[in-house]
Amino acid sequence: MLGMVMKIGILGLGLIGGCLGFDLRSQGYNVVGVSRQESTCQKAISAGIVNQAGQDLSLLASTEVVFVCTPIGLIVPQVKELTSHLSKSTIITDVGSVKTPIVSAITPIWENFLGGHPMAGKTEVGIDAAEPHLFVNRPYVLTPTDTTPNHLVTIVEEIVRSLGANIYYCQPEQHDRAVSWISHLPVIVSASLIAACLSETDPEIAQLAENFASSGFRDTSRVGGGNPELGVMMAEYNRQALLYSLHQYREKLDEFIKMIDEEKWHNLQHKLECNKQARPRYLE
Ligand code: NAP
Repeated sequence: MLGMVMKIGILGLGLIGGCLGFDLRSQGYNVVGVSRQESTCQKAISAGIVNQAGQDLSLLASTEVVFVCTPIGLIVPQVKELTSHLSKSTIITDVGSVKTPIVSAITPIWENFLGGHPMAGKTEVGIDAAEPHLFVNRPYVLTPTDTTPNHLVTIVEEIVRSLGANIYYCQPEQHDRAVSWISHLPVIVSASLIAACLSETDPEIAQLAENFASSGFRDTSRVGGGNPELGVMMAEYNRQALLYSLHQYREKLDEFIKMIDEEKWHNLQHKLECNKQARPRYLE
């Protein structure tokens, strides 16, 4: 391939697909986009996200690598449709936020498949929210299985590295358990927090709580008061790992309730000190 410009396809020109397009083009790749709406394809061309774009999957026929960036529930059905348009050597990779159901459905039907998940995002979605450099210094997880050909991992890794992302490798199940702790559990915990506040029966107290809410409530309610579709998607596609984290969380909550109920202030202090010490490990 020396001297030849690699042709990369992007299926689904939304936030993630659009951001990928910006960066891949600036790396000199030849980028072909396919999306559902003609207006999205036009925007992608005029914004410089892709070299060419259209609504027909056959546009991706001559690409060497395709990034599937459609909403999570459409990744597997779209890949099934896509495969009839590709040559056997084309590499397919996806960006879905949950890996196990996707990797286990696609691996048997496409040998050259590698699951991926760029851990970067924004509140807004759609092509209008796309911007360059979203993946710089952010984790990008790749989930090869025992049957994933090595050369394919090398090629995808090289492309992902060109985005400036930090690459991590793990099994799809490990990925889903890890993101359950730091992403999916917080959504449900934060959603329960808002629901608990709403359960106040005294209207005067409820009104005061609304008036008094400040930065602490803004931080703790943010992920639970966001996009409902995203929350349902996480629960639906990562159900098992999320249920496990939720049960662990309920145990921890019970421990806190007990300490407070029994006025074990020393134990509570100790617990909070451990947490204070551990928290930076997740954020640095
Ligand atoms: P998004 O902005 O809504 O983009 C998805 C795009 O897919 C839409 O803009 C839509 O384009 C297109 N699409 C929908 N149905 C299609 C179809 N049948 N055929 C072709 N294109 C279709 O969503 P996103 O946030 O980029 O998420 C895309 C994927 O990235 C998801 O799988 C998600 O799990 C993953 N992800 C998201 C984030 C995040 O924070 N947002 C982070 C990491 C990974 P049209 O405008 O043409 O309809």
